[in-house]
Amino acid sequence: KKADIGVTGLAVMGRNLARNLARHGHAVALHNRSETRTRELVEQFGDEGEFLPTYSAREFVDALERPRKLVIMVKAGEPTDAVIEEFAPLLEPGDVIVDAGNAHFADTRRREAALRERGLHFVGTGVSGGEEGALHGPSIMPGGSAESYESLGPLLESISAKVDGDPCCTHVGPDGAGHFVKMVHNGIEYSDMQLIAESFDLLRGALGYEPAQIADVFRTWNSGRLESYLIEITAEVLGHTDAATGKPFVDVVADQAEQKGTGRWTVQIGLDLGQPITGIAEATFARSLSGHADLRASARGLAGPTRAPLSGSDADRFADDVEQALYASKVVAYAQGFNQILAGGAEYGWDIDLGAVASIWRGGCIIRARFLNDIRAAYEAEPGLQTLLTSGGFRKAVEDAQDAWRSVVSTAVRLGIPTPGFSTALAYYDALRAERLPAALVQGQRDYFGAHTYRRVDREGVFHTEWAAEGRPERSA
Ligand code: NDP
Repeated sequence: KKADIGVTGLAVMGRNLARNLARHGHAVALHNRSETRTRELVEQFGDEGEFLPTYSAREFVDALERPRKLVIMVKAGEPTDAVIEEFAPLLEPGDVIVDAGNAHFADTRRREAALRERGLHFVGTGVSGGEEGALHGPSIMPGGSAESYESLGPLLESISAKVDGDPCCTHVGPDGAGHFVKMVHNGIEYSDMQLIAESFDLLRGALGYEPAQIADVFRTWNSGRLESYLIEITAEVLGHTDAATGKPFVDVVADQAEQKGTGRWTVQIGLDLGQPITGIAEATFARSLSGHADLRASARGLAGPTRAPLSGSDADRFADDVEQALYASKVVAYAQGFNQILAGGAEYGWDIDLGAVASIWRGGCIIRARFLNDIRAAYEAEPGLQTLLTSGGFRKAVEDAQDAWRSVVSTAVRLGIPTPGFSTALAYYDALRAERLPAALVQGQRDYFGAHTYRRVDREGVFHTEWAAEGRPERSA
Protein backbone atom coordinates (compact mmCIF):
# COMPACT_ATOMS: atom_id res chain seq x y z
CA LYS A 1 0.00 0.00 0.00
CA LYS A 2 1.18 3.50 -0.80
CA ALA A 3 0.93 6.55 1.45
CA ASP A 4 -1.79 9.17 1.06
CA ILE A 5 0.66 11.92 1.90
CA GLY A 6 4.28 12.33 2.99
CA VAL A 7 6.01 14.63 5.44
CA THR A 8 9.69 15.54 5.15
CA GLY A 9 11.26 17.50 8.00
CA LEU A 10 10.38 15.76 11.23
CA ALA A 11 11.40 18.27 13.89
CA VAL A 12 8.65 19.23 16.32
CA MET A 13 6.24 20.73 13.76
CA GLY A 14 6.64 18.07 11.07
CA ARG A 15 6.48 15.23 13.56
CA ASN A 16 3.26 16.53 15.05
CA LEU A 17 1.66 17.17 11.66
CA ALA A 18 2.56 13.63 10.58
CA ARG A 19 1.06 12.20 13.77
CA ASN A 20 -2.07 14.29 13.32
CA LEU A 21 -2.45 12.97 9.75
CA ALA A 22 -1.93 9.37 10.86
CA ARG A 23 -4.38 9.75 13.75
CA HIS A 24 -6.97 10.81 11.20
CA GLY A 25 -6.58 7.58 9.27
CA HIS A 26 -4.21 8.75 6.54
CA ALA A 27 -1.19 6.62 5.65
CA VAL A 28 1.83 8.90 6.05
CA ALA A 29 5.25 8.47 4.45
CA LEU A 30 8.02 9.88 6.62
CA HIS A 31 11.36 11.40 5.69
CA ASN A 32 13.97 13.56 7.34
CA ARG A 33 17.47 14.65 6.34
CA SER A 34 18.99 12.85 9.29
CA GLU A 35 17.55 9.40 9.82
CA THR A 36 17.33 9.53 13.61
CA ARG A 37 14.20 11.70 13.67
CA THR A 38 12.39 9.29 11.36
CA ARG A 39 13.33 6.26 13.45
CA GLU A 40 12.37 8.01 16.68
CA LEU A 41 8.97 8.97 15.38
CA VAL A 42 8.16 5.40 14.44
CA GLU A 43 9.55 4.01 17.71
CA GLN A 44 7.65 6.46 19.90
CA PHE A 45 4.41 6.95 18.03
CA GLY A 46 4.25 4.13 15.48
CA ASP A 47 1.08 2.75 17.07
CA GLU A 48 -0.88 5.96 16.47
CA GLY A 49 -1.56 5.15 12.82
CA GLU A 50 -0.07 4.02 9.56
CA PHE A 51 3.48 5.33 9.01
CA LEU A 52 5.79 4.42 6.12
CA PRO A 53 9.32 5.43 7.19
CA THR A 54 11.71 6.08 4.30
CA TYR A 55 15.40 6.87 4.28
CA SER A 56 16.12 8.36 0.86
CA ALA A 57 14.45 10.88 -1.40
CA ARG A 58 13.75 8.20 -4.02
CA GLU A 59 12.23 5.85 -1.46
CA PHE A 60 10.07 8.68 -0.08
CA VAL A 61 8.72 9.70 -3.49
CA ASP A 62 8.06 6.07 -4.46
CA ALA A 63 6.08 5.51 -1.28
CA LEU A 64 3.48 8.13 -2.28
CA GLU A 65 0.16 7.52 -4.03
CA ARG A 66 -0.27 9.65 -7.18
CA PRO A 67 -0.84 12.54 -7.53
CA ARG A 68 1.85 12.64 -4.87
CA LYS A 69 1.39 15.03 -2.02
CA LEU A 70 4.48 15.81 -0.03
CA VAL A 71 4.66 18.26 2.82
CA ILE A 72 7.92 20.05 3.52
CA MET A 73 8.27 21.15 7.14
CA VAL A 74 11.87 22.33 7.39
CA LYS A 75 13.60 25.51 8.45
CA ALA A 76 12.29 28.37 6.29
CA GLY A 77 14.63 29.98 3.75
CA GLU A 78 17.47 28.20 1.97
CA PRO A 79 16.72 24.79 3.50
CA THR A 80 13.29 24.90 1.85
CA ASP A 81 14.86 25.59 -1.57
CA ALA A 82 17.36 22.80 -1.00
CA VAL A 83 14.63 20.32 -0.15
CA ILE A 84 12.49 21.38 -3.12
CA GLU A 85 15.47 20.83 -5.42
CA GLU A 86 16.06 17.43 -3.89
CA PHE A 87 12.52 16.22 -4.59
CA ALA A 88 11.22 18.14 -7.62
CA PRO A 89 13.35 16.20 -10.17
CA LEU A 90 11.86 12.94 -8.89
CA LEU A 91 8.24 14.06 -9.24
CA GLU A 92 5.82 13.89 -12.18
CA PRO A 93 3.35 16.43 -13.58
CA GLY A 94 0.34 16.90 -11.33
CA ASP A 95 2.21 16.08 -8.12
CA VAL A 96 1.82 18.56 -5.26
CA ILE A 97 4.61 19.96 -3.10
CA VAL A 98 3.36 21.64 0.07
CA ASP A 99 5.58 24.04 2.01
CA ALA A 100 4.06 24.26 5.48
CA GLY A 101 6.97 26.21 6.99
CA ASN A 102 6.92 29.93 7.73
CA ALA A 103 8.05 31.09 4.28
CA HIS A 104 7.96 34.68 3.09
CA PHE A 105 5.10 34.93 0.59
CA ALA A 106 7.44 36.43 -2.04
CA ASP A 107 9.57 33.27 -1.87
CA THR A 108 6.40 31.22 -2.22
CA ARG A 109 5.41 33.18 -5.34
CA ARG A 110 8.85 32.59 -6.83
CA ARG A 111 8.83 28.87 -6.01
CA GLU A 112 5.28 28.41 -7.27
CA ALA A 113 6.06 30.05 -10.61
CA ALA A 114 9.21 27.97 -11.10
CA LEU A 115 7.51 24.68 -10.21
CA ARG A 116 4.44 25.47 -12.31
CA GLU A 117 6.80 25.66 -15.33
CA ARG A 118 7.84 22.13 -14.48
CA GLY A 119 4.22 20.93 -14.30
CA LEU A 120 4.18 20.66 -10.51
CA HIS A 121 1.78 22.23 -8.07
CA PHE A 122 3.37 24.19 -5.27
CA VAL A 123 1.24 25.02 -2.27
CA GLY A 124 2.64 27.49 0.25
CA THR A 125 0.54 27.02 3.32
CA GLY A 126 0.38 28.88 6.59
CA VAL A 127 0.07 26.70 9.69
CA SER A 128 -0.65 28.36 13.00
CA GLY A 129 -0.99 27.02 16.49
CA GLY A 130 2.56 26.00 17.33
CA GLU A 131 3.43 22.42 18.14
CA GLU A 132 0.22 21.76 20.07
CA GLY A 133 -1.84 23.00 17.15
CA ALA A 134 0.09 20.87 14.68
CA LEU A 135 -0.77 17.79 16.73
CA HIS A 136 -4.33 18.51 17.84
CA GLY A 137 -5.63 20.69 15.00
CA PRO A 138 -4.03 23.84 13.63
CA SER A 139 -5.50 26.65 11.60
CA ILE A 140 -4.33 25.97 8.05
CA MET A 141 -4.02 28.63 5.33
CA PRO A 142 -3.14 27.00 2.00
CA GLY A 143 -2.36 28.96 -1.15
CA GLY A 144 -1.60 27.47 -4.58
CA SER A 145 -3.80 26.37 -7.45
CA ALA A 146 -7.47 25.53 -7.04
CA GLU A 147 -6.70 22.20 -8.72
CA SER A 148 -4.18 21.25 -6.05
CA TYR A 149 -6.74 22.00 -3.36
CA GLU A 150 -9.09 19.39 -4.82
CA SER A 151 -6.84 16.54 -3.75
CA LEU A 152 -5.01 18.22 -0.89
CA GLY A 153 -7.90 20.15 0.70
CA PRO A 154 -9.79 17.21 2.20
CA LEU A 155 -6.60 15.92 3.86
CA LEU A 156 -5.77 19.29 5.36
CA GLU A 157 -9.36 19.95 6.43
CA SER A 158 -9.46 16.59 8.20
CA ILE A 159 -6.53 17.50 10.48
CA SER A 160 -7.37 21.17 11.05
CA ALA A 161 -9.09 22.58 14.12
CA LYS A 162 -12.90 22.58 13.96
CA VAL A 163 -15.23 25.28 15.22
CA ASP A 164 -18.96 24.55 15.24
CA GLY A 165 -18.16 21.69 12.88
CA ASP A 166 -16.42 23.93 10.32
CA PRO A 167 -12.78 23.11 9.52
CA CYS A 168 -10.29 25.91 10.19
CA CYS A 169 -8.83 25.46 6.72
CA THR A 170 -9.82 27.02 3.43
CA HIS A 171 -8.22 27.59 0.03
CA VAL A 172 -7.06 31.16 0.59
CA GLY A 173 -6.05 31.99 -2.99
CA PRO A 174 -3.36 31.33 -5.62
CA ASP A 175 0.44 31.19 -5.19
CA GLY A 176 1.59 33.21 -2.15
CA ALA A 177 -1.87 34.06 -0.76
CA GLY A 178 -1.70 31.48 2.04
CA HIS A 179 1.66 32.59 3.34
CA PHE A 180 0.61 36.24 3.01
CA VAL A 181 -2.44 35.62 5.18
CA LYS A 182 -0.31 33.68 7.69
CA MET A 183 2.10 36.63 7.80
CA VAL A 184 -0.73 39.08 8.55
CA HIS A 185 -2.10 36.64 11.15
CA ASN A 186 1.23 36.88 12.93
CA GLY A 187 1.26 40.68 12.58
CA ILE A 188 -2.15 40.85 14.22
CA GLU A 189 -0.86 38.48 16.89
CA TYR A 190 1.97 40.95 17.67
CA SER A 191 -0.57 43.77 17.92
CA ASP A 192 -2.96 41.81 20.13
CA MET A 193 -0.13 40.74 22.46
CA GLN A 194 1.16 44.30 22.76
CA LEU A 195 -2.31 45.64 23.64
CA ILE A 196 -2.74 42.97 26.30
CA ALA A 197 0.72 43.76 27.68
CA GLU A 198 -0.14 47.47 27.85
CA SER A 199 -3.34 46.63 29.72
CA PHE A 200 -1.26 44.75 32.29
CA ASP A 201 1.18 47.64 32.60
CA LEU A 202 -1.68 50.12 33.11
CA LEU A 203 -3.43 48.05 35.76
CA ARG A 204 -0.17 47.72 37.61
CA GLY A 205 1.08 51.29 37.10
CA ALA A 206 -2.18 53.13 37.69
CA LEU A 207 -3.82 50.88 40.30
CA GLY A 208 -0.83 49.20 41.88
CA TYR A 209 -2.30 45.72 41.32
CA GLU A 210 -0.07 42.68 41.77
CA PRO A 211 0.30 40.24 38.85
CA ALA A 212 -1.93 37.68 40.56
CA GLN A 213 -4.72 40.27 40.92
CA ILE A 214 -4.31 41.24 37.28
CA ALA A 215 -4.55 37.55 36.36
CA ASP A 216 -7.99 37.57 37.98
CA VAL A 217 -8.99 40.65 35.99
CA PHE A 218 -7.98 38.88 32.77
CA ARG A 219 -9.92 35.78 33.82
CA THR A 220 -13.01 37.93 34.21
CA TRP A 221 -12.45 39.54 30.84
CA ASN A 222 -12.06 36.10 29.33
CA SER A 223 -15.65 35.31 30.15
CA GLY A 224 -16.86 38.27 28.07
CA ARG A 225 -16.38 39.68 24.60
CA LEU A 226 -12.57 39.53 24.91
CA GLU A 227 -12.65 35.73 25.30
CA SER A 228 -9.61 34.44 23.45
CA TYR A 229 -6.63 32.15 23.69
CA LEU A 230 -4.25 35.07 24.24
CA ILE A 231 -6.26 36.49 27.16
CA GLU A 232 -6.54 33.00 28.64
CA ILE A 233 -2.79 32.32 28.54
CA THR A 234 -2.05 35.84 29.79
CA ALA A 235 -3.99 35.04 32.96
CA GLU A 236 -2.01 31.80 33.30
CA VAL A 237 1.34 33.56 32.84
CA LEU A 238 0.45 36.36 35.28
CA GLY A 239 -0.80 33.90 37.87
CA HIS A 240 2.38 31.85 37.70
CA THR A 241 4.92 32.00 40.54
CA ASP A 242 8.61 31.46 39.87
CA ALA A 243 9.63 28.29 41.68
CA ALA A 244 13.21 29.41 42.35
CA THR A 245 12.44 32.77 43.93
CA GLY A 246 8.79 32.65 44.93
CA LYS A 247 8.28 35.90 43.01
CA PRO A 248 5.67 36.47 40.31
CA PHE A 249 7.04 34.78 37.19
CA VAL A 250 6.56 37.93 35.09
CA ASP A 251 8.92 39.83 37.41
CA VAL A 252 11.85 37.48 36.92
CA VAL A 253 11.67 37.45 33.10
CA ALA A 254 14.02 39.85 31.28
CA ASP A 255 11.87 42.60 29.75
CA GLN A 256 13.28 42.32 26.23
CA ALA A 257 10.83 40.91 23.70
CA GLU A 258 12.20 38.88 20.81
CA GLN A 259 10.76 38.07 17.42
CA LYS A 260 11.24 35.61 14.62
CA GLY A 261 10.43 38.11 11.90
CA THR A 262 6.88 37.67 10.60
CA GLY A 263 5.74 40.88 12.33
CA ARG A 264 8.61 42.72 10.68
CA TRP A 265 7.62 41.29 7.28
CA THR A 266 4.04 42.46 7.79
CA VAL A 267 5.23 45.98 8.50
CA GLN A 268 7.69 46.00 5.59
CA ILE A 269 4.97 44.90 3.17
CA GLY A 270 2.56 47.35 4.76
CA LEU A 271 4.95 50.14 3.84
CA ASP A 272 5.33 48.79 0.30
CA LEU A 273 1.57 48.58 -0.14
CA GLY A 274 0.96 51.98 1.51
CA GLN A 275 -1.16 50.34 4.21
CA PRO A 276 -1.34 52.20 7.54
CA ILE A 277 -1.03 49.12 9.77
CA THR A 278 0.01 51.34 12.64
CA GLY A 279 -0.97 48.90 15.39
CA ILE A 280 1.21 46.12 14.01
CA ALA A 281 4.04 48.58 13.37
CA GLU A 282 3.94 49.97 16.93
CA ALA A 283 3.83 46.47 18.36
CA THR A 284 6.85 45.47 16.30
CA PHE A 285 8.73 48.65 17.28
CA ALA A 286 7.77 48.13 20.93
CA ARG A 287 9.51 44.75 20.81
CA SER A 288 12.61 46.27 19.24
CA LEU A 289 12.66 49.17 21.69
CA SER A 290 12.51 46.76 24.61
CA GLY A 291 15.54 44.95 23.25
CA HIS A 292 17.79 48.05 23.22
CA ALA A 293 19.23 47.46 26.67
CA ASP A 294 22.08 49.97 26.43
CA LEU A 295 19.89 52.70 25.00
CA ARG A 296 17.33 52.15 27.74
CA ALA A 297 20.03 52.11 30.43
CA SER A 298 21.41 55.41 29.15
CA ALA A 299 17.98 57.06 29.33
CA ARG A 300 16.70 55.51 32.55
CA GLY A 301 17.21 58.65 34.63
CA LEU A 302 15.13 60.97 32.41
CA ALA A 303 12.43 62.80 34.33
CA GLY A 304 8.84 61.65 34.21
CA PRO A 305 5.66 62.87 35.88
CA THR A 306 5.22 62.41 39.60
CA ARG A 307 3.06 59.37 39.72
CA ALA A 308 0.08 59.51 41.98
CA PRO A 309 -1.80 56.30 41.40
CA LEU A 310 -5.50 56.63 40.72
CA SER A 311 -7.84 56.74 43.65
CA GLY A 312 -11.53 56.97 44.40
CA SER A 313 -14.06 56.60 41.62
CA ASP A 314 -11.33 56.94 38.96
CA ALA A 315 -9.70 53.84 40.38
CA ASP A 316 -13.00 51.98 40.65
CA ARG A 317 -13.75 52.56 37.01
CA PHE A 318 -10.28 52.06 35.66
CA ALA A 319 -10.18 48.30 35.09
CA ASP A 320 -13.44 48.48 33.18
CA ASP A 321 -12.14 51.43 31.16
CA VAL A 322 -9.04 49.43 30.24
CA GLU A 323 -11.26 46.57 29.08
CA GLN A 324 -13.06 48.99 26.77
CA ALA A 325 -9.82 50.54 25.51
CA LEU A 326 -8.44 47.07 24.86
CA TYR A 327 -11.53 46.02 22.97
CA ALA A 328 -11.62 49.16 20.82
CA SER A 329 -7.88 49.00 20.08
CA LYS A 330 -8.24 45.36 19.16
CA VAL A 331 -10.96 46.18 16.65
CA VAL A 332 -8.57 48.72 15.09
CA ALA A 333 -5.73 46.17 14.98
CA TYR A 334 -7.90 43.61 13.20
CA ALA A 335 -9.43 46.23 10.90
CA GLN A 336 -5.92 47.23 9.83
CA GLY A 337 -4.81 43.64 9.36
CA PHE A 338 -7.81 42.69 7.24
CA ASN A 339 -7.28 45.80 5.12
CA GLN A 340 -3.70 44.70 4.56
CA ILE A 341 -4.96 41.33 3.30
CA LEU A 342 -7.31 43.15 0.96
CA ALA A 343 -4.44 45.33 -0.29
CA GLY A 344 -2.19 42.30 -0.83
CA GLY A 345 -5.00 40.63 -2.74
CA ALA A 346 -5.41 43.68 -4.98
CA GLU A 347 -1.66 43.91 -5.60
CA TYR A 348 -1.08 40.26 -6.42
CA GLY A 349 -4.41 39.36 -7.99
CA TRP A 350 -5.79 37.17 -5.22
CA ASP A 351 -9.50 37.19 -4.57
CA ILE A 352 -9.40 36.54 -0.83
CA ASP A 353 -12.63 35.98 1.06
CA LEU A 354 -12.10 37.92 4.29
CA GLY A 355 -15.07 36.27 5.99
CA ALA A 356 -13.50 32.86 5.29
CA VAL A 357 -10.17 34.05 6.70
CA ALA A 358 -11.90 35.21 9.90
CA SER A 359 -13.64 31.87 10.02
CA ILE A 360 -10.47 29.73 9.84
CA TRP A 361 -8.81 31.88 12.52
CA ARG A 362 -11.59 31.03 15.00
CA GLY A 363 -9.81 27.85 16.04
CA GLY A 364 -6.37 26.27 16.13
CA CYS A 365 -4.34 29.46 15.85
CA ILE A 366 -2.82 31.84 18.36
CA ILE A 367 -5.31 34.66 17.76
CA ARG A 368 -8.36 32.41 18.04
CA ALA A 369 -11.13 34.32 19.73
CA ARG A 370 -14.86 34.67 20.08
CA PHE A 371 -14.45 38.06 18.39
CA LEU A 372 -13.60 36.39 15.05
CA ASN A 373 -17.19 35.15 14.78
CA ASP A 374 -18.24 38.79 14.68
CA ILE A 375 -15.62 39.63 12.05
CA ARG A 376 -16.81 36.76 9.89
CA ALA A 377 -20.40 37.93 10.27
CA ALA A 378 -19.41 41.51 9.38
CA TYR A 379 -17.78 40.47 6.09
CA GLU A 380 -20.57 38.05 5.25
CA ALA A 381 -23.16 40.77 5.75
CA GLU A 382 -21.18 43.33 3.77
CA PRO A 383 -18.56 41.78 1.44
CA GLY A 384 -17.32 45.17 0.18
CA LEU A 385 -16.80 46.55 3.68
CA GLN A 386 -14.05 49.23 3.69
CA THR A 387 -13.25 48.91 7.36
CA LEU A 388 -14.52 46.76 10.21
CA LEU A 389 -14.90 49.95 12.23
CA THR A 390 -18.04 50.96 10.37
CA SER A 391 -19.81 47.61 10.40
CA GLY A 392 -22.87 47.43 12.66
CA GLY A 393 -21.78 45.73 15.87
CA PHE A 394 -18.21 47.00 15.86
CA ARG A 395 -19.26 50.55 15.16
CA LYS A 396 -21.54 50.58 18.17
CA ALA A 397 -19.05 48.84 20.46
CA VAL A 398 -16.21 51.21 19.56
CA GLU A 399 -18.40 54.31 19.78
CA ASP A 400 -19.61 53.14 23.19
CA ALA A 401 -16.00 52.51 24.25
CA GLN A 402 -14.53 55.75 23.04
CA ASP A 403 -14.90 57.79 26.22
CA ALA A 404 -13.23 55.10 28.28
CA TRP A 405 -10.59 54.64 25.58
CA ARG A 406 -9.71 58.35 25.62
CA SER A 407 -9.65 58.41 29.39
CA VAL A 408 -7.26 55.44 29.53
CA VAL A 409 -4.89 56.97 26.99
CA SER A 410 -4.88 60.30 28.80
CA THR A 411 -4.30 58.59 32.15
CA ALA A 412 -1.39 56.73 30.59
CA VAL A 413 0.07 59.97 29.26
CA ARG A 414 -0.43 61.71 32.60
CA LEU A 415 1.24 58.91 34.57
CA GLY A 416 4.00 58.37 32.03
CA ILE A 417 3.03 54.79 31.19
CA PRO A 418 3.92 54.04 27.55
CA THR A 419 0.93 52.78 25.57
CA PRO A 420 1.99 52.93 21.91
CA GLY A 421 -0.62 50.35 20.92
CA PHE A 422 -3.61 52.05 22.56
CA SER A 423 -2.46 55.50 21.46
CA THR A 424 -1.88 54.67 17.83
CA ALA A 425 -5.17 52.81 17.60
CA LEU A 426 -7.03 55.83 18.95
CA ALA A 427 -5.16 58.17 16.61
CA TYR A 428 -6.13 55.92 13.68
CA TYR A 429 -9.77 56.00 14.75
CA ASP A 430 -9.74 59.79 15.04
CA ALA A 431 -7.90 60.25 11.76
CA LEU A 432 -10.28 57.98 9.84
CA ARG A 433 -13.37 59.73 11.15
CA ALA A 434 -11.97 63.27 10.70
CA GLU A 435 -13.75 65.61 8.33
CA ARG A 436 -10.45 67.26 7.34
CA LEU A 437 -6.87 66.17 7.94
CA PRO A 438 -3.80 68.40 8.11
CA ALA A 439 -2.62 66.51 5.03
CA ALA A 440 -3.86 69.62 3.20
CA LEU A 441 -1.12 71.61 4.87
CA VAL A 442 1.46 68.96 4.03
CA GLN A 443 0.44 69.28 0.37
CA GLY A 444 0.89 73.06 0.63
CA GLN A 445 4.37 72.62 2.07
CA ARG A 446 5.28 70.17 -0.68
CA ASP A 447 4.06 72.55 -3.35
CA TYR A 448 5.98 75.43 -1.78
CA PHE A 449 9.40 73.81 -1.59
CA GLY A 450 9.25 71.34 -4.43
CA ALA A 451 6.45 72.41 -6.82
CA HIS A 452 4.90 69.00 -6.15
CA THR A 453 1.41 70.39 -6.99
CA TYR A 454 -1.89 69.80 -5.19
CA ARG A 455 -5.53 69.07 -5.91
CA ARG A 456 -8.34 71.37 -4.76
CA VAL A 457 -11.60 70.72 -3.00
CA ASP A 458 -13.57 73.00 -5.32
CA ARG A 459 -12.16 72.32 -8.80
CA GLU A 460 -10.91 69.34 -10.81
CA GLY A 461 -7.30 69.22 -11.91
CA VAL A 462 -3.79 69.61 -10.61
CA PHE A 463 -2.57 72.98 -9.33
CA HIS A 464 0.64 74.73 -8.47
CA THR A 465 0.96 78.10 -6.82
CA GLU A 466 3.69 80.51 -8.02
CA TRP A 467 4.81 81.14 -4.49
CA ALA A 468 7.37 83.86 -5.45
CA ALA A 469 4.80 85.81 -7.44
CA GLU A 470 2.30 85.53 -4.59
CA GLY A 471 4.56 87.07 -2.04
CA ARG A 472 7.16 84.43 -1.32
CA PRO A 473 9.83 86.08 0.86
CA GLU A 474 13.27 86.54 -0.72
CA ARG A 475 15.57 83.68 0.13
CA SER A 476 18.73 84.81 1.83
CA ALA A 477 21.80 83.65 -0.04
P1 NDP B 1 13.02 23.88 12.53
O1 NDP B 1 12.60 25.16 11.95
O2 NDP B 1 13.91 23.90 13.71
O3 NDP B 1 13.71 23.00 11.38
C1 NDP B 1 14.28 21.75 11.67
C2 NDP B 1 14.00 20.79 10.54
O4 NDP B 1 14.52 21.29 9.30
C3 NDP B 1 14.68 19.45 10.78
O5 NDP B 1 13.84 18.42 10.30
C4 NDP B 1 15.94 19.59 9.93
O6 NDP B 1 16.49 18.36 9.56
C5 NDP B 1 15.40 20.31 8.74
N1 NDP B 1 16.41 20.97 7.95
C6 NDP B 1 17.10 22.10 8.26
N2 NDP B 1 17.94 22.42 7.26
C7 NDP B 1 17.78 21.50 6.30
C8 NDP B 1 18.36 21.30 5.01
N3 NDP B 1 19.26 22.14 4.52
N4 NDP B 1 17.95 20.23 4.28
C9 NDP B 1 17.03 19.39 4.77
N5 NDP B 1 16.43 19.53 5.96
C10 NDP B 1 16.81 20.57 6.72
O7 NDP B 1 11.74 22.97 12.88
P2 NDP B 1 10.29 23.32 13.42
O8 NDP B 1 9.59 22.02 13.49
O9 NDP B 1 10.33 24.19 14.63
O10 NDP B 1 9.64 24.22 12.28
C11 NDP B 1 9.48 23.77 10.95
C12 NDP B 1 8.87 24.87 10.11
O11 NDP B 1 7.60 25.21 10.66
C13 NDP B 1 9.67 26.17 10.09
O12 NDP B 1 9.57 26.72 8.80
C14 NDP B 1 8.96 27.04 11.09
O13 NDP B 1 9.13 28.42 10.82
C15 NDP B 1 7.53 26.59 10.88
N6 NDP B 1 6.63 26.81 12.00
C16 NDP B 1 7.03 26.57 13.27
C17 NDP B 1 6.16 26.79 14.33
C18 NDP B 1 6.61 26.48 15.70
O14 NDP B 1 5.80 26.76 16.65
N7 NDP B 1 7.79 25.91 15.92
C19 NDP B 1 4.79 27.28 14.11
C20 NDP B 1 4.44 27.41 12.75
C21 NDP B 1 5.33 27.20 11.74
P3 NDP B 1 17.56 17.61 10.51
O15 NDP B 1 16.75 16.87 11.52
O16 NDP B 1 18.29 16.70 9.59
O17 NDP B 1 18.43 18.66 11.12
